[in-house]
Amino acid sequence: MEEDIDTARLNQFVPEEGYLDTTENGHLVFDGHDCVQLAHRFGTPLYVMSGRKIRENYCALSTAFTALYKNVKVAYAYKANPVLAVLKILHQEGALAEVISTGELFLADVIGVKGSNIIFNGCNKDRKGIRQAINMGALINVDSFQELKMVEEEAAKKNTKARIGIRINPVVKTGTLNVWETALEESKFGITLSRGLEAYKKAQKMDNVEIVGIHTHIGSQVGDGKPYTTATERIMDFLGELKKNGIEIQVVDMGGGIAVPFRYRDTPSLDVFARAILEPFNQKREEYDLGEPTLVIEPGGRIIGTTTILLLTVGTVKREENTKKWAMVDGGANINLRATQGWYVYQCFCCNKMTEERETINVAGPLCYAGDVLAHNRQLPHLEEGDVLALLDCGAYTMAVFNRYNSYPFPAVVLLNDKATVVRKRETFTDLLRGERFF
Ligand code: PLP
Repeated sequence: MEEDIDTARLNQFVPEEGYLDTTENGHLVFDGHDCVQLAHRFGTPLYVMSGRKIRENYCALSTAFTALYKNVKVAYAYKANPVLAVLKILHQEGALAEVISTGELFLADVIGVKGSNIIFNGCNKDRKGIRQAINMGALINVDSFQELKMVEEEAAKKNTKARIGIRINPVVKTGTLNVWETALEESKFGITLSRGLEAYKKAQKMDNVEIVGIHTHIGSQVGDGKPYTTATERIMDFLGELKKNGIEIQVVDMGGGIAVPFRYRDTPSLDVFARAILEPFNQKREEYDLGEPTLVIEPGGRIIGTTTILLLTVGTVKREENTKKWAMVDGGANINLRATQGWYVYQCFCCNKMTEERETINVAGPLCYAGDVLAHNRQLPHLEEGDVLALLDCGAYTMAVFNRYNSYPFPAVVLLNDKATVVRKRETFTDLLRGERFF
């Protein structure tokens, strides 16, 4: 939340070699491209993603974990950003797909991900998705006793065995926002650890399921390693108990949640998270003689958050002594809901006036509700109609949660490799009519 943030750091532009820089005439440069030119060429609002940064973030994560245990797989959480070009890049790098709905399963299928590389999570899977996952040979992480029965029934109809894990809630508080806590006693996800053995024993007796794994996910924007250590210890102790009961696990999936490392705060490095999970994992693997199961992690935001900027154009500016100071831009909660909820706070700079003197001003979207504010009390230059603003590090949970409030078409998404390519077209007003009928 904005109150906890060091405002000096929030307002400070720190160049990053290869990604963030300024030109001599005071323009922002992102991944080698002048942001003002990008805005003029493609229009705004515009999401701009760096292909190089996506690959780098994936590799950094994978390397930090495989340095401590060779049998690690990274499953990218589609929910964080399901733009197909992003998914394609990550699968080329070797990521598995973490999907939580029949729709995300469909996306994985469309872009040619093999079933054996798909992990199907979610707390309310429908039978259509379950059938499709079984057909594809995906690993289904069952979320409830009811779902276990559904999976068994659907696999029996096909006279086959579904590959399953069970999502176990180790009851760990991570200390992030309440909406991101997924492993509280009362959380809607998974089966609580205290009933875990009962669930696995039930599955063990079923003819049409094959027990492959265990799954957990403790929350999002987790900013330190301790909750992961507690969760891993509990899950591994449970695997010891399963082993005593004749149940061996090949895939231990510790979920996602590693915080997006926003530049204005100190987020622990990746090896802190890797050690938090893999030290207890390795120690307890030996203690219980569990062999070498695959360790899966399911990052979303940590891979995609820092790969992207959002470009916006200033329209109306209102300045009144001691009361209002507003710069209105062409996108708000419709294209960046989390900024307006205060869940994520983004650095904001004026792409065409990076070196000018600054004043304090709020940046708001165009929507008809008072909460449509992207940035509160920021230090920005004297803004005028036509200026281009950039929000930094907004790749996660933005393009995934566009909405149509006030009938603004969805913005375009551009991917930078050597050149800039539109990977998702800007919608037109005609797109707003799709599927509608009137009489
Ligand atoms: N895995 C599961 C099961 C999730 O529910 C989520 C997020 O909700 C993730 C992975 C990805 O979380 P994050 O983007 O915080 O890494």
